[in-house]
Amino acid sequence: MKQGIKTIKRRHARNFVQDSSQKRLDEVVPAYNAQVLNALSVDYVTIFYYNILKIGTNCTCEKHDDNIADITSNTSPNVSSQSDNNWKESQEYEIVDASSYGSMFGDNNSFNDTEDDFDDEDFTPEINVEKFASSDTIFAGNNINCGICYRSGFLPGYSLQRGTRIVLTTFDIVNAKGYHIDSSEQPYVINRLTDVGYIEYTISVPKYYKKAVFSIRNNHTVTRDVFFDINNNVVTQAYLSNNAGKKISIRVKADQFTHAVIEFHYDADDIRANIPNINKTLDYTLLETIGNLQVILPMTIGNVSAGDHIAIPTRNLYLKVVDIESSTTSTNRKLEWRATCRVLQPQESLRKLFFNKPFI
Ligand SMILES: [Zn+2]
Repeated sequence: MKQGIKTIKRRHARNFVQDSSQKRLDEVVPAYNAQVLNALSVDYVTIFYYNILKIGTNCTCEKHDDNIADITSNTSPNVSSQSDNNWKESQEYEIVDASSYGSMFGDNNSFNDTEDDFDDEDFTPEINVEKFASSDTIFAGNNINCGICYRSGFLPGYSLQRGTRIVLTTFDIVNAKGYHIDSSEQPYVINRLTDVGYIEYTISVPKYYKKAVFSIRNNHTVTRDVFFDINNNVVTQAYLSNNAGKKISIRVKADQFTHAVIEFHYDADDIRANIPNINKTLDYTLLETIGNLQVILPMTIGNVSAGDHIAIPTRNLYLKVVDIESSTTSTNRKLEWRATCRVLQPQESLRKLFFNKPFI
């Protein structure tokens, strides 16, 4: 009886190709990565990526009992003996005119939106972000539509990729004169009582950065106010450059504010992203109603998660990441990030997170 051929070498069978396939795929990955980066560099938009922070100091929009109560009585906090004679001008509380910032925020930005009381619940996005968020037990969230933490409940709320984002609130005050902190508000509001009043903060200026931008905000409103140094001079780009790598004291003299933001953008490559459908959705009126948009991000961005914020000022597009996944090989090598994003509506406060102005 014939028994069939015994000489088939299984290890070298033609259909036994997993190992070599994987090896070839692995060899291809760096090339593919380069291809993705090349593709992104050809047909790309420059983005600013903000990571939502799910831990940190509780924001002042949350009711809590801690040390902050000690300096929130109805008297002026920590009145300083430092004189401040030169500050007499009573600054009008104004909304910044977007046009003064040129193309930085795109052509049709909504810098002067004043819908302070806009509530996320007022409209129904295609994906229910609140529902999504509540499924994440760490993402405590907050019911107050807060212009500091944007409902994250934590300070500083968001961090900036390839940059440093500083959020200065009542917690960060190192010196004060002629101001009162109204802790009955959520978030706390800082009111100036006298013309010579100021609130002083200390910040660290990074040793190297490309650009510094800032805003002094009254909850959702970006004010026209600027920072001053301790000699009452306006803090300028040059002043910051001269103090690179150092700690400096800066003062706010706004009539009324809740917080201030400073961002140092590092001298790194811009983050380039690809939005496959952006050309189909050039009608921005439509874009604001479509709800979701896919954004392809380079794998060089780390720590991405739902709730992150993507600003694309050149397209006047501001997005909230609702889902993000990476394309990976079987050996877990990442190819790219695919973010499903919700287009933020003009009334939504998070849309203004990016809206800072350069120091003069
Ligand atoms: Zn808050």
